Amino acid sequence: MKALRVSAPGRVEILTVPDPIPGPGEILVRVDRVGICATDRKLVARPRRPGLVLGHEIAGTLGDGSPVGVHPDVGCGDCLHCRAGFENRCPDRCSIGVDRDGGLAELVAVPAGHVLPLGGVEVSLAPLLEPLACCLHAIDLLGVAPSEQVLVVGAGPMGLLATLALKALGARVVVSQRSPQRRQHALAVGADAAIGPDEDPRAALGQAPTAAIVTAPTAEALAWALRRVEVGGRVHAFAGLPGDRSIDANVVHYRHLSLIGSTGSRLRDYVRARDLVAGGHLDLRRLPLRPVALHEVPAVLEGTERESAKVIVAMERSSE
Ligand SMILES: [Zn+2]
Ligand SMILES: [Zn+2]
Repeated sequence: MKALRVSAPGRVEILTVPDPIPGPGEILVRVDRVGICATDRKLVARPRRPGLVLGHEIAGTLGDGSPVGVHPDVGCGDCLHCRAGFENRCPDRCSIGVDRDGGLAELVAVPAGHVLPLGGVEVSLAPLLEPLACCLHAIDLLGVAPSEQVLVVGAGPMGLLATLALKALGARVVVSQRSPQRRQHALAVGADAAIGPDEDPRAALGQAPTAAIVTAPTAEALAWALRRVEVGGRVHAFAGLPGDRSIDANVVHYRHLSLIGSTGSRLRDYVRARDLVAGGHLDLRRLPLRPVALHEVPAVLEGTERESAKVIVAMERSSE
């Protein structure tokens, strides 16, 4: 089968490789669509495992043709975190497309419990269920209440998905974003206001936001949010930051803030994401999408350009 692998730091290649052999309790998914995100770019720039097949935002079909999505964060099933249902916190987590071979291939082997029926969600949109699940997880940890004022920092695909999720929950959302084009995207997916970093979210919403999700991957963006939420507010550090980054702990102390973080999602976040979309409560078609073919992915992953649209790969079939 054809697969896209990390060949060296900063390099990927499309190769013909043997079909994956499912382990005990695993099944093969025939891949239709795969989303690309910042995690993939990090895994290319700084490979954890040479030869890794990328792709953790996966939609495809089973042998009988039924459409499925993949929840990629697979825990050991036995530790404190897994038993509490937080497989994304498992120290022995083996995430598909991150720690083990993923979905930028014709076939991917997945533990059966992490393969979920799409319940009517279009296959072409289903790769978005994984990043949406990560957003729902963050929103859950923040404890956002309906009608609460929430600040989203960054209007890349993650910020836009977080905005869609917050609007589906009934929150009022102000998005902060430097690029005017991306601010337009935020308004198009339903943000109540979109502002530049030199503007005040309090003025945009009529009152200061009491919670924030920082999807922009800079320490400056996180520091900005810590100063813009209401005293006593909660801030979620959603994006990993390059290199060592420090924040001013006194801002957290004197402003009575809660600083929260998470990465990935739980299986139940993925199920919630699917049910929200399948039930018509959240329209993923509002997100700007850029469909690409597998042969275009090396240019996407090796380039430095950060496109504002979400890249979705349509897999090519070399054989049946
Ligand atoms: Zn991702
Ligand atoms: Zn575990």
